Amino acid sequence: MKKELKENQNDSDPPSAIEEHKEETIPLTTVAEEKPFVKSEIKTSDFNIISKETEDFRARFFPQASEKQWNSWRWQIQNSYTQFNKLSEVIDVKNIDDLAFLSKSRKLPLRITPYYASLLDKQGSDSPIAKTVVPSKLELIVSEGEESDPLHEDSMCPVPNLVHRYPDRTLLLSTGFCSVYCRYCTRSHMVLKDKKHFGTKAWSDSIDYIRNNPEVRDVIISGGDPLTINDKHLELLVSSIRAIPHVEIIRIGTKVPIVLPQRITKNLVKMLKKYHPLYLSIHVTHPDEITPEVAEAVTRLADAGIVLGSQTVLLKGVNDSVEVMKELMLKLLKIRIRPYYIYQCDPIPGSSHFRTPVSKGLEIIQGLRGFISGYAIPHYVIDAPGGGGKIPLLPEYYQGREGDYVLIKNFEGKQYKYYDPIL
Ligand SMILES: *Cc1c(COP(=O)(O)O)cnc(C)c1O
Repeated sequence: MKKELKENQNDSDPPSAIEEHKEETIPLTTVAEEKPFVKSEIKTSDFNIISKETEDFRARFFPQASEKQWNSWRWQIQNSYTQFNKLSEVIDVKNIDDLAFLSKSRKLPLRITPYYASLLDKQGSDSPIAKTVVPSKLELIVSEGEESDPLHEDSMCPVPNLVHRYPDRTLLLSTGFCSVYCRYCTRSHMVLKDKKHFGTKAWSDSIDYIRNNPEVRDVIISGGDPLTINDKHLELLVSSIRAIPHVEIIRIGTKVPIVLPQRITKNLVKMLKKYHPLYLSIHVTHPDEITPEVAEAVTRLADAGIVLGSQTVLLKGVNDSVEVMKELMLKLLKIRIRPYYIYQCDPIPGSSHFRTPVSKGLEIIQGLRGFISGYAIPHYVIDAPGGGGKIPLLPEYYQGREGDYVLIKNFEGKQYKYYDPIL
């Protein structure tokens, strides 16, 4: 008889999904859709780092919350800022009436964890990181080339919520819920529609598809944010994918270590490390995000052998300078996150105030390459509108040919010739 998952299983209980994953099927007894908004019991957490400024913020805005509660990721989600008037207590939210209108007309919800709000409070409403999560009237301006699903992901789903664009890897959209809603989110069309966990049953078709397509050797679990799913359900998903023999690596795309570091409990890490080789792509935007809390979360993951990469969206007024990107990339390297991608900001509706010219991205790469460790230099890519995939862009280091020589330019702008005869 199939073992059923216990509904009131504690996060610290031994995982019960292991038996089932041998059968390579999602047990249909676990349909229960988890609603992150519903108040549930706060369990004690083994996360216990609160930096000084964040502690001051807690004492000021959540005096009734204990340290234990603050360090619980569920408490953080349940007490997140989702209302403009509540947020305005923390930072100066301009034109709150307009924003109320905005929330009705566009509906990309407001959601900021108390932890992340504590970083905004320190910096003020015009700070780089506030711009990324606090709604703005500028979101109402829809510009040339913008569309709700710019990467045409919906047309590349062989089954719902599984994007198969490249020959050997697929992207599994595991949930519509995120712990923070970035104003420039490329999947805003999806989180706008769903805003919740799909439940485990929704993954069955994707897992069947991967199992039936042996060319898939790399599965990226994204969303929404997969690390907002509880340990039990997440393990069900990861173990089911791991049980497919031709899947070589599993990646998880997440912003949780940056905006909700409390989620990176020892139990989560202990569970994840059973499914190596596992990679984590962490969405990170600005050096101000690299706090002691984040360093702790990331250290736990790295110590468990999980390979950490970063993804950063290039955003005007946020991180669009060589200095800021350099500081960010070097800070990431120090906490063992290998910079992976800088993305040109995808043209979702109402995002033009975030977009820089492509020349800015090239200037940043040029300002990094040669000046700091090569390990600290990500690829700058445009995810081609219409679904062409990620296209890398490089400054003009290759300058053409002169007879049997190629002409190349170094990081200082000096020209060199390399003998490369045409055969
Ligand atoms: C980004 C992406 C991938 C992964 O691309 P890599 O360059 O291998 O990191 C896979 N599928 C889709 C649909 C993507 O958008």
